[in-house]
Amino acid sequence: MTKGELTTLMESLGQPTFRVKQVEDWIWNKNAKSFEDMTNLPKSLRAQLSESLALGGVEEVARQVSEDGSRKYLLRMTDGVTVECVGMPSGKKLAVCVSTQAGCAMGCAFCATGGAGFTRSLTPSEIYDQVMHVRDDFNTRVTSVVFMGQGEPFMNYDNTLAALRKLNDPEGAGIGARHLTVSTCGVIPMIRKFSREPEQFTLAVSLHSAVQKTRNQIMPGVKKYSLLNLYTVMGEYVDRTGRRPTYEYALIDGVNDTREEMEALCDFCRDTLAHVNIIQLNNVPGSKLKPSTERRAEDFVNALSRVGVEATIRNSRGSDIDAACGQLKQRLS
Ligand code: SAH
Ligand code: SF4
Repeated sequence: MTKGELTTLMESLGQPTFRVKQVEDWIWNKNAKSFEDMTNLPKSLRAQLSESLALGGVEEVARQVSEDGSRKYLLRMTDGVTVECVGMPSGKKLAVCVSTQAGCAMGCAFCATGGAGFTRSLTPSEIYDQVMHVRDDFNTRVTSVVFMGQGEPFMNYDNTLAALRKLNDPEGAGIGARHLTVSTCGVIPMIRKFSREPEQFTLAVSLHSAVQKTRNQIMPGVKKYSLLNLYTVMGEYVDRTGRRPTYEYALIDGVNDTREEMEALCDFCRDTLAHVNIIQLNNVPGSKLKPSTERRAEDFVNALSRVGVEATIRNSRGSDIDAACGQLKQRLS
């Protein structure tokens, strides 16, 4: 329900308007599980609300805890579909990785989610509730959220934006826009739209190859958006927002880690504001694709730095717990 719908409902029940704020506080801040929990509402109102409305919310069906402290959850939505999300603590910080869809239609060759096909998009509150679930489990403030779980956020644009706004809202989770990052495989029209949003949300793009033929093979879902067009729209993004985008590049042995690929990546990134995250491919059981050596990852970082491009090797969290998205879900299905 929107604030407007909730206001209309409270009016029709003859309630004062401050009830709207009270209910919203229970839902968005206190993550109440039932109307009964809302102890500052009159008992009669609580009963009326429970009779006519269902509180959403996600239910945990499985979890894995890593030696490094990160926790991965399999969460069930009210209609039974499940998605994964992850909490990654470090010092006083807590980062959460959320899913935006159950499954994904983009079919990337290296991705466990892509291999399992598409079920449905998540609603804004289903995305938001993943963050609340992790917050409550760690019992601490969430300092950043990455939209890098299952699904393609820009194939569920409106709900992704609504979830981002609620996470950013001081009356919601109150997380700064720069600490909210969306990762896309490169849905160009939506990158353009995203660059026009007023908030300073952070953008990451899964590049994985700057050679068209290779990218077509490993990321067939974005074949129709050429690298040339991606390059152009990212230039527009930087001009318009002044913000630094990230390219994600997971090294796959013999596929996108050759000299030719390295040179193409350097050319693609040179003189742009982009930061490159070199990622160690997570092994997906049953897949022929294997990670490159650590040495190769260092070669890539050095090559990029020689042409003035900032690059880092992203340390992998939870490598002992089916870290690649989609793997926990696959194991249990
Ligand atoms: N659909 C969006 C966001 C979810 S995937 C996207 O593709 O960007 C989040 C990140 O995980 C992407 O960069 C994706 O390419 C990467 N990824 C998927 N499978 C992986 C694997 N097996 N090893 C390493 N990274 C992987
Ligand atoms: Fe979908 Fe992202 Fe996986 Fe590709 S990498 S299949 S876009 S979730």
